[in-house]
Amino acid sequence: MTHRFIPELNEEQIADIQLDGLKWTADHAYNGSPFYRSRMKEQGIEPGDIKTLDDLQQMPFTTANDLKEGYPMPLLSVPEADVVRIHGSSGTTGKRKILTYTQNDIDTWKDMFARCYELAGLTVEDRVQICVGYGLWTAGAGFQLGCERFGAMTLPVGPGLLEIQLQMLTDLKSTCLCSTASMALLMGEEVQKQGLADKIALKKAIFGAETHTPKMRRQFEQALGLEHSFDIIGMTELYGPGMGLECMAHDGIHYWADKFILEIIDPDTLQPVAPGETGEMVVTTLSKEASPLIRYRTHDLTRIIPGQCSCGVTMPRIDKIMGRSDDMFIFRGVNIYPGQIGSVLEGFGDLSAEYQISLTRHDGLDHMAVRVERTPEASTDNDEGLAKAVAAEIRKNILVRSDVSILGPGKLPRSFAKTKRVQDERGED
Ligand code: ZN
Repeated sequence: MTHRFIPELNEEQIADIQLDGLKWTADHAYNGSPFYRSRMKEQGIEPGDIKTLDDLQQMPFTTANDLKEGYPMPLLSVPEADVVRIHGSSGTTGKRKILTYTQNDIDTWKDMFARCYELAGLTVEDRVQICVGYGLWTAGAGFQLGCERFGAMTLPVGPGLLEIQLQMLTDLKSTCLCSTASMALLMGEEVQKQGLADKIALKKAIFGAETHTPKMRRQFEQALGLEHSFDIIGMTELYGPGMGLECMAHDGIHYWADKFILEIIDPDTLQPVAPGETGEMVVTTLSKEASPLIRYRTHDLTRIIPGQCSCGVTMPRIDKIMGRSDDMFIFRGVNIYPGQIGSVLEGFGDLSAEYQISLTRHDGLDHMAVRVERTPEASTDNDEGLAKAVAAEIRKNILVRSDVSILGPGKLPRSFAKTKRVQDERGED
């Protein structure tokens, strides 16, 4: 299959591009950014020392914290006059992260994003309803830039606004929905509730920005009558969304290895994990001008999927993002990612994809309560047995005790944005 936007590169060609890009980035960052220069000097490395891809290991790591230090234009490696745009995202603490873009950066981003639409099998006839945040956020701008570059029709609605979303779906007959998984789920529920299923023309959805479970996905695929849905990855620091997308084979996410190098490290030892093992994703850009990234720690957990994909695209693959090392909570000495609880719930046909975890502390002892929803089809008679079975499964898989309660469908709070799974009310002891 020939692609207009996705290049067909073999491993060797990708490695050549990566080495050239790494050398260029080391040189560019060293000469353009006082931050990178001093960081590389501390590490005792100069741009000329980069001779092979393995030399990346000698480069310093960067973190979200480094973006705070250089606020408001951290990592800036070009004259300010060359910056044509900024985007921002909320920082976990205090100041937001702001990233700068040159025109070349914007062009690289839109080409990467066009590849995503191509990988999803869209054509210029498609109508793409974009239901993600506009403004400072990269999401709306990225989805729109990519869509226009690809040549499909953009319907830029933004997040929320349920009535307008439904109106666009029925009147403009959008064929592709771009949103968070929670938003797709919410729209699916609304389409069913209002009996609009045969009035809409959706075939595909591209969703991302939060961890999701296969069950959640099946739920919105069914409710919206989709043929396919695709998980997209991205982050503001690395242009924005569009770093990669799942393909039709639905066996991992292809990422654009000719635009950035992706390493998987053990977050404790900072050493690379064995091929195929899960760890923290670290990225290094190959041609980003305004705010290049060198070994940027994303805190996203995933793994590289070895081997070639059956779809024929030669770009390498990672698994879906399994959570963030920051979302991890420690409960009675056990490290837990919310996604692990979600995975346990997968095994229960009578439960929906919605769940919430709350952590409390009584008399110095931590308690975990897990609230889950019954599916509309499930009988209400078996709640007690179901709760016990879920608690037993959590204990078996994650080795902790929990109090599970089963709620009716739609009882847990819904959110347009990222669903907050964990309420930690343990306070400081
Ligand atoms: Zn594939």
